[in-house]
Amino acid sequence: MPSSERFPCVTRRGFLVGTAAVLAAGCIRTPQNQEYAPVTPVRPAGPATTGGDGSGLTYTVERGDTLYSISRRAGIPVADIENANPRSSDPPLRPGTRLWLPGAIAIIGTTAAPPTTTPEVAGKGEPYRLVPRSTWTDAKIGPKREPMGKVLKITVHHTDEGERLAEVPDAELLKRIDNYHREGRHWPSIGYHYLVGRDGEICNIYEGRPAQFKGTHTLHNNSNNLGIAVMGDFMHKLPTPKQLRALRAFLDDSRSRFSVSLTQVYGHRELSASSCPGDALFAWLKDYRAGRAG
Ligand SMILES: [Zn+2]
Repeated sequence: MPSSERFPCVTRRGFLVGTAAVLAAGCIRTPQNQEYAPVTPVRPAGPATTGGDGSGLTYTVERGDTLYSISRRAGIPVADIENANPRSSDPPLRPGTRLWLPGAIAIIGTTAAPPTTTPEVAGKGEPYRLVPRSTWTDAKIGPKREPMGKVLKITVHHTDEGERLAEVPDAELLKRIDNYHREGRHWPSIGYHYLVGRDGEICNIYEGRPAQFKGTHTLHNNSNNLGIAVMGDFMHKLPTPKQLRALRAFLDDSRSRFSVSLTQVYGHRELSASSCPGDALFAWLKDYRAGRAG
């Protein structure tokens, strides 16, 4: 998040809440008397857009694999795997079956350290659920996109959208941020790779910019840097226990997936001039790096 106009960051409260600047730009069709546009419900996953540029990995199913475990290890949604492999992904998965994993740029190997939790199926008790980009936007990634290359570090943000948007549904906030980043900042898409949501019993982690593309979230430090934003303002208070549990598990999973050490997990403020991800979340992040985060 921005700490000043001199170092603009990824969201700007005035823009997101529907100021005259937004209306003048014409990028959000919002009646003047509404604080935000009508909520568009998250629709069921359609054809996968992740990896629409042809990127991805082929993976050979091993004994004991499930779609969900593959999804977790590759960091792509189950729906994207199903859409890319319409018949061969029918459960139960048969060892030896080759699956195309659209948009995947790495997968945690079976010999690697397992994620924090390795559930067989998605359901109650899971720390998070990955939600495909295709469920919340049809927007293509713009032509100015650049390849990510190897992920070497991970940066944590908060979205810091301000009190007036503190209660809006995840889908609305995603669209607000995406609109601002594309229309206001002229970036190829929403700048973050993943966003930790607020809605629902199981924490949703939304795919933002597909991880095979370099993000736009940390000024002068976007190269090889995976950007994860937690929805909310965490200057003075922590995310909800549900969000923190999801963030911790997702950081663990992402570190395993990309072989990133704890010392290469940053708060935005450590890499460019910003107060992001807020004092409270940054304190939690320091505990996480020290192995103390609950
Ligand atoms: Zn930030």
